[in-house]
Amino acid sequence: MRTRVEGVVQGVGFRPHVYRLARELDLGGYVLNDERGVLLEVEGSSQSVDRFLKRLVAEPPPLARIERILPEAVTATGTDSFEILPSVRTGTPQALVSPDTATCAECLAEMNDPRDRRHRYPFINCTNCGPRFTIATGVPYDRPLTTMAGFAMCERCLAEYEDPGDRRFHAQPNACPVCGPRAWLLQQDSPVGGGSHRGGASNGDANGDRAIGGQGAVQAAAELLAKGLIVAVKSLGGYHLACRADFQVAVAVLRARKHREDRPFALMVADLSAAEALIELDAPARALLQDRARPIVIARRRGGAGVAEAVAPGCPDLGVMLPYTPLHHLLLADFAQAPLVMTSGNRSEEPIAFDDEDALTRLREIADAFLVHDRLIHMRTDDSVLRHTTAGAVMMRRSRGYVPGAIALPVPAPRPLLACGAELKSTFCVAKDEHAWVSHHIGDLKNFETLLSFREGVAHFQRLFAVTPEVVVHDLHPDYLSTGYALERAAGNPARDWTDSSGARLIELIAVQHHHAHLAACLAEHGETGPALGVIFDGSGYGTDGTAWGGELLVGDLCDFERTGHLRAVRLPGGDRAVNEPWRMACAWLTAAHQGEGLPPLPAALSGQVTPERWETIARLSRSELAPLTTSVGRLFDGVAAVCGARAVVNYEGQAAIELEGMVDSAERGSYSIEVSERAGMIELDPGPAVLAAVREGAAGVPRGTVAARFHSGLAQATADACARIADGRGLDTVVLSGGVFQNRVLLESMVERLRSIGLRVLVPRLLPPNDGGISYGQAAVAAARLS
Ligand SMILES: [Zn+2]
Ligand SMILES: [Zn+2]
Ligand SMILES: [Zn+2]
Repeated sequence: MRTRVEGVVQGVGFRPHVYRLARELDLGGYVLNDERGVLLEVEGSSQSVDRFLKRLVAEPPPLARIERILPEAVTATGTDSFEILPSVRTGTPQALVSPDTATCAECLAEMNDPRDRRHRYPFINCTNCGPRFTIATGVPYDRPLTTMAGFAMCERCLAEYEDPGDRRFHAQPNACPVCGPRAWLLQQDSPVGGGSHRGGASNGDANGDRAIGGQGAVQAAAELLAKGLIVAVKSLGGYHLACRADFQVAVAVLRARKHREDRPFALMVADLSAAEALIELDAPARALLQDRARPIVIARRRGGAGVAEAVAPGCPDLGVMLPYTPLHHLLLADFAQAPLVMTSGNRSEEPIAFDDEDALTRLREIADAFLVHDRLIHMRTDDSVLRHTTAGAVMMRRSRGYVPGAIALPVPAPRPLLACGAELKSTFCVAKDEHAWVSHHIGDLKNFETLLSFREGVAHFQRLFAVTPEVVVHDLHPDYLSTGYALERAAGNPARDWTDSSGARLIELIAVQHHHAHLAACLAEHGETGPALGVIFDGSGYGTDGTAWGGELLVGDLCDFERTGHLRAVRLPGGDRAVNEPWRMACAWLTAAHQGEGLPPLPAALSGQVTPERWETIARLSRSELAPLTTSVGRLFDGVAAVCGARAVVNYEGQAAIELEGMVDSAERGSYSIEVSERAGMIELDPGPAVLAAVREGAAGVPRGTVAARFHSGLAQATADACARIADGRGLDTVVLSGGVFQNRVLLESMVERLRSIGLRVLVPRLLPPNDGGISYGQAAVAAARLS
């Protein structure tokens, strides 16, 4: 029997698994890696061969993902020995680099066993766990093309690596205390911020720093944390900044040094029971927290959760993760007192530090000490973030642990392509045939460092997955830096490293409307092509009419779409400034909804924060054609948050909306009315009356939790009514909910419930975020469908 196995089957211990299974069942034959995956032949009794195939499918190695298994009968050779044969490499590699994976139970047991040679070794790993994507420098995924290339395996490690019966057979990052990477603690002698010294992590005894190496490093770091100091910890995809989470002063100092005004900090706790002391988890959320990808899980915080106020000011939720590297496990075990803040190692908007030299420079002003090691991180990845809802988990940031896992395209890409994504929560995507590889979260391209890492990331992904794009896909927005990058590639500057040896080639450009990409991304990840009705509630995206869309009811499939409804358009007074000053949106909405003479009065909730003169100026601007038009639901939430007494000025996009969601009194059943009208076949949702009601009730002393709940409920009801109308008129039964606003748990849960109760099928993004992190994949899905 010859069988071909395709999927994620390389670098995940598949061949030793096959070897052990065949030996166990007394089968002869061979197994090998080739460019399509794994090829194997087994011979023996037909019963055993059957059992072999069944078990191969039923119990694959933990990290493998079998996509296809193609058995065929062949003539027996009479052999009863089983061998692992050398890899066959012809043509372009399909062998996939898998995502980084949390330390497995077997490695943990060894690390905690005083008799084991890897007792307390912070880099223990095996074929079932450890670093992958973050250390791969190229393909094929073999040790020389990882950042482990500089570590020669000792005899014992090599013996494991070469033994097909061993758990570490061909584990590329295999290492031990004798031959592998080391950790040490760098402690600044001078007070933080006082020195001008620039040290390299590869040089542990650099001037001015005290270094503690070996076994004591983690213990010493734990002691500093216990004292309330801030320690930069080199993790898997970058540096974290850690401090004890129960100590208000430590957290406040970290916040001040990081210049990260109010964004919640993520926490790391030793185990599940410690997590459950902080947040409310049901069975699926518990599973999520313990998933091999080890994401940050955001869930409702428990009353009395033992964390300082400064961890997540004003936020009813907490983000918690479990340790995912051996170093984390050791640190959390040594530091047994409290949860740790584990936030990305950067200053406010910069990308996370992953290069040692850079980390020591940039984080020097923030951290009191550095827990570092000498295994280089090749690709920076942030922690992934998921939010727990009754409608399933919502991915908020897809990065470490998930990337670079392939996501299938329902319509294969007939030509290799690159999709450049959006701008703010940017990702890109390379695709060929039915495979799409979405990058890790890159971040805001307007930050120069981030833009550079976008460019480097694209080049790296093209190499890893052997994609030479013939088609480049971009957003309609002419000013997005990702659009600029696409145009630049199409111009075919031959000096750039993306042109191959044949020189500049003609690249075809495809532009995809932002909200169509949101719709297509959700359809495609569910393996569907549409048509469906898409409710796309978003911050903003460039509409086909040149205005800023963001509250759209689209009917579409992968190829095309039609706008069938939208939120009432209002002025965006001050353009981008309106994003940072939600009170401007309150003013815009109140001006639009104002009945009677003159300008709308300044709401009581804003009176201490905005002067009457300022209010009047912005109200006038809200009537002027100088201000652009927007249908953004994100901005509507900002405005309502402002009239409910949330902050008038925010530090990051969506902050006010998050506060508004946090205010919701879940016991409240009332609802504000939002008008659904139809003109020339176009549905319009007008929340003007709801905004007026929120101001009126707020002034009358109705608690803001009640007001917030009534607004959420009113919007969900009106949207569901509009969906029912459109679905009915168009004969559709499927509704897609996507766009950044659907990170809002209250709105998402209530929309899903209402749509299901009227018999509509609801699709929400699962594998990718509803925010702009999913745009690149949506663009790829649209382009593939249009090219087919
Ligand atoms: Zn392991
Ligand atoms: Zn060794
Ligand atoms: Zn968007």
